[in-house]
Amino acid sequence: MSEHIPVQIIESFEASRPRAAKPKNASSDNAIHTRSFSGLFRTLRLIGAGFLFLLFFGTVWLSWDGRQAVLWDLSESKFHIFGATFWPQDFILLSGLLIIAAFGLFTITVFAGRVWCGYTCPQSTWTWLFMWCEKVTEGDRNQRIKLKAAPWSLPKIARRTAKHALWLAISVMTALTFVGYFTPIRPLATELLTLEMAGVSLFWVLFFTGATYINAGWLREAVCMHMCPYARFQSVMFDKDTLAISYDVARGESRGPRKRGTDPKQAGLGDCIDCHMCVQVCPTGIDIRDGLQMECIGCAACIDACDSVMDKMGYARGLVRYTSEHELQGGKTHLLRPRLIGYAVVLVVMIGALVVALNQRSMVSLDVIKDRGLFRENSQGQIENIYSLKIINKTQDTQHYRVSLKDGEGYQLQGKTELTLAPGEITDLPVSVALLADRPTSSSQTITFVVTDTDQPSVRGVADSRFVAPLNR
Ligand code: SF4
Ligand code: SF4
Repeated sequence: MSEHIPVQIIESFEASRPRAAKPKNASSDNAIHTRSFSGLFRTLRLIGAGFLFLLFFGTVWLSWDGRQAVLWDLSESKFHIFGATFWPQDFILLSGLLIIAAFGLFTITVFAGRVWCGYTCPQSTWTWLFMWCEKVTEGDRNQRIKLKAAPWSLPKIARRTAKHALWLAISVMTALTFVGYFTPIRPLATELLTLEMAGVSLFWVLFFTGATYINAGWLREAVCMHMCPYARFQSVMFDKDTLAISYDVARGESRGPRKRGTDPKQAGLGDCIDCHMCVQVCPTGIDIRDGLQMECIGCAACIDACDSVMDKMGYARGLVRYTSEHELQGGKTHLLRPRLIGYAVVLVVMIGALVVALNQRSMVSLDVIKDRGLFRENSQGQIENIYSLKIINKTQDTQHYRVSLKDGEGYQLQGKTELTLAPGEITDLPVSVALLADRPTSSSQTITFVVTDTDQPSVRGVADSRFVAPLNR
C-alpha cells in the first residue's frame, strides 16, 4: 500500500521533479489520448463552458445607443461598456477590478483548489472544445490511437482534414471575436467575409487564429503545466482543509482487479479495481492515485470515471472525490476557517470600495497645463499667467460647463468660461488668470480650477496648478 503523503509535501516534490518522460495515459507514441466520459462534473463543465462561450461570442455583437455595447476603442483610448464609457483617467478602476479578480481567484483556490482551471479557464475550455472536435472527426480514444498508428489512406486523410478544418474554423471565429472587442466587429466581419481585411486588423486576426489553434489544438495541457504561473504557486494557497480532488488511499488500497461480486475485504483488497479509467480520462495524463500533483487542473473527469466504475461494481461512490487532507487523515474538513474568512472579508471590502469609486467617478475630467512662460504683465498692468484647460465630457449626452477658480479671491479668470461639449468631446480651452491683489506673499501660489456641469452642479472636475508672480514689481 502506498503511504499517504501530506498535500504540501507532494506539491513541493511535484513542483521540483522533472516531468515524467511519458504521461501515465499516453499511448506508445507518447501522446495523450483522452477517453471521453459523462457524469455530473462533465455536465457542470459543459454548463460553465456554454456560459463562457455565450458571453464571449455573444456580447461582442450587442449594440447600445447606436454603437457596439462592449468596445475597447484603441483609436480613441476609450472603453465602452453598455451605457458607461471609461477613459484613460479611469483606468485605476480597471486595476482595482483586476486586483479583485486575482484575490477572488486566491479565495476560491483556498476553498476548492483549481476549480477555475477545471471549469472556466479559457485554455481548458477551448481545449475541451477542440477535443470534442477530435472525437467527432476521429472517434474516441481507442479509435484515435488506431488511426494514428494506421498508414496514410483516404479515410485517414479525410478525418484529419476535417479535424483541422474544424479547429481552424473555431480559431478564426475566436480571433475575429477577440479582435472585435477592440475594433468594431461588424465592419471587421464584413472585411473578413469579403477578403478585404488588411493591415493591423489582419495581423491580429491571423495572430490570434494561430495562437488559438496552437494552444488548444497542439499544446493543450502543456500550457497549464509549463506556461501558466498559477500551477506553480497554488501550493502556497492550499491548506489542509482545501477541497482538492483526491484519491482515498485508505479506502482504495490495496488496489487490484477482481470479479464483480467479490467481497474486497475477504480478498484482501481495497475498492480500487485498478481499471485505469481515471487515468485514461485525464487530460494531463496523470494518475490521481499518485497523490495531488502540479499537473492536475482540477477538471474532475477522474471523479466521473471512477464514480461510474464504483456504480458498476456496486461500491459507494467517492473513491476519487473533492476532499481535504484533514478528511483523508480521518478528521473533519473545516470549511469556515480564519484564513478563508479573512480572504472573504477583504474581498467584500475591495468590491465595496470599487462600487463606491465607480459611483463617485467624476463624469467630467479636467487637466491643467501651465504655459511655459512664467508670467507676463497685461494691458491693465496686472500680472497674468496663461493656462490650457483640457476638459472631457465623459457622459453620453451633450453637457454645459462653467469654469471657475476655487477660493479665487485676489485673482481674476479671463477668457471663455462657459462652454458646451458634445458626448465624449475633448476640448483644450486657453484661459488666463490675472493677479488682482497688490503683492503676492510667495513667488508661486497654488490655484485651483473647477469645471462644473451647470445643470448638475455636483458633477465637477477639479485640478490644481501654480500661479507665478514676481515678489517685487
Ligand atoms: S477509476 Fe477508480 S477504480 Fe479505476 S483505477 Fe481509478 S481509482 Fe481505481
Ligand atoms: S487528475 Fe483528475 S482532476 Fe486532475 S487533471 Fe486529471 S482527470 Fe482532471
